[in-house]
Amino acid sequence: MRILEERILKDGKVFSGNVLKVDSFLNHQIDVKLLAEIGKELKKLYNDCAITKVLTIEASGIGVGCMVAQFFDCPLIFAKKSKTINIKGDVYTSQVESFTHQCTYDIIVSKDFLKNTDTVLIVDDFLAKGNALNGLIDIVRQAGAKLAGCGIAIEKGYQGGGDKLRNQGIRVESMAIIEKMDDKTGEIVFRR
Ligand code: 5GP
Repeated sequence: MRILEERILKDGKVFSGNVLKVDSFLNHQIDVKLLAEIGKELKKLYNDCAITKVLTIEASGIGVGCMVAQFFDCPLIFAKKSKTINIKGDVYTSQVESFTHQCTYDIIVSKDFLKNTDTVLIVDDFLAKGNALNGLIDIVRQAGAKLAGCGIAIEKGYQGGGDKLRNQGIRVESMAIIEKMDDKTGEIVFRR
C-alpha cells in the first residue's frame, strides 16, 4: 500500500536490533484513517473467504484488528498474554517468543470464542520472524477452525517469518514489506 509505505518513510524510525518504531501512527498514537485504509484493503483481498472471526494478539494488534473486523462485520478476538499457565482447560494456549521483549510468554484464547465452525483471519501490526503468527495459527488449529490467512500492516521481509509461512502454504498479505533497513543511515527499502 503506497500510503503506508509513504508514511513509514515519513515518520518511521529505525532503531538498532531491527526495530522499526512507528509510534506516531500505529503503535502509540494511532492514525485511524490509515488503519481504515488497511482494513479496506484486507477486506478486498479476503472478501471471498467468509471470515467469521478476526484474531490478533494484545496489545498492538488490537487497533488494526478492530478496524479489520469492522470491515468484515465480525468480532475481533485478541489472544491475551499470560505469565501463568492456565490449567483450567477452558482456554487454548500456545507459547510465543517475544521479538521486542526477548522473553517467552503464553498466549490464551477462551474456548468460548473460537469454534471449529469459524473461518479466521489473523492480523497483526508487525511480522518479523513469525513467532507471534505461529502461536496464533497454533490456536486456530487447536480450535479446529479454518484459517483463511494472515493480514499484516508491516512485514520485515528480510527477517524471514512471512516467507516461511508462505512456503508452508499459508496465505500472508502484508500492506508494506520492508526488504532492508539501516539503523545507521535510517534508510528503509521496500520489496517490490
Ligand atoms: P515476530 O513474532 O514475527 O518475530 O514479531 C512480531 C511481533 O513483534 C509483533 O506482534 C510486533 O508487536 C513485534 N514487532 C516485531 N518487530 C517489530 C518492529 O520492528 N517494531 C515494532 N514496533 N514491533 C515489532
